[in-house]
Amino acid sequence: MSQLTKKEVLTEGKAKKIYATEDPDKVIFYFKDDATAFNAKKRGTIVNKGILNNRISQRLFRLLEENGIKTHFIEELSEREMLVHKVEIIPYETVVRNLVTGSLRKRLDRPEGEELSHPIVEYYYKCDRLDDPMINDEHAIVFGWATREELDSIHSQALAVNDVLKKFMLERGILLVDFKLEFGRARDGSVLLADEICPDTCRFWDVETREKLDKDRFRQDLGNVEGAYQEIMERVSRA
Ligand code: 5GP
Repeated sequence: MSQLTKKEVLTEGKAKKIYATEDPDKVIFYFKDDATAFNAKKRGTIVNKGILNNRISQRLFRLLEENGIKTHFIEELSEREMLVHKVEIIPYETVVRNLVTGSLRKRLDRPEGEELSHPIVEYYYKCDRLDDPMINDEHAIVFGWATREELDSIHSQALAVNDVLKKFMLERGILLVDFKLEFGRARDGSVLLADEICPDTCRFWDVETREKLDKDRFRQDLGNVEGAYQEIMERVSRA
């Protein structure tokens, strides 16, 4: 176990605080129970969300590493804390979709739950003021947010993450509907999967009942949000 300790807060986001450590290349994520949706227009607390998201993210980062996908994850420090490699976050979110729902359903008026013949990868510029607008490769390159090589790496890593996660979740009775990833530049210049992978950032539906087991329960006031996160925790913990 690392002897590194929390120093100053580097950033505080909606769901996490990020602390510096004695090692300039490593930071500590602290997972909070705060929940926000619709660009923080809706706010609340989900009891123990921080503990569950820390545990779920760790399980999924380990799974990805076992399958040859490099991530920023180093080790668990406590029930709400993980040690990760410090990266420079690339300022767009990468979304992968397997089924139609959410903003895709609204934007193109497609049927809820329509299965996609192959996964769709989308990019959203991280900008609260603009409500994270969708962008394409050319915007990312022209505005200097990523190089062509970085975009290609992110695209192929996102699809690889989808293949691994989709299979793992399906074996546990869960459809991976869609999810959001963040990538960052490591010190050696490589692009590394960062942030978190949990019911805040993924849509998970029970394969039999299609019950939502993710943050949509909070976004849409469906109730039993904690129960859904707990259910995901239990299912990803299965051998
Ligand atoms: P949509 O574009 O349909 O709203 O979201 C697609 C997927 O990306 C969903 O799994 C959603 O949870 C995730 N996602 C998109 N933007 C964000 C964001 O700003 N924060 C979080 N936590 N997840 C997001």
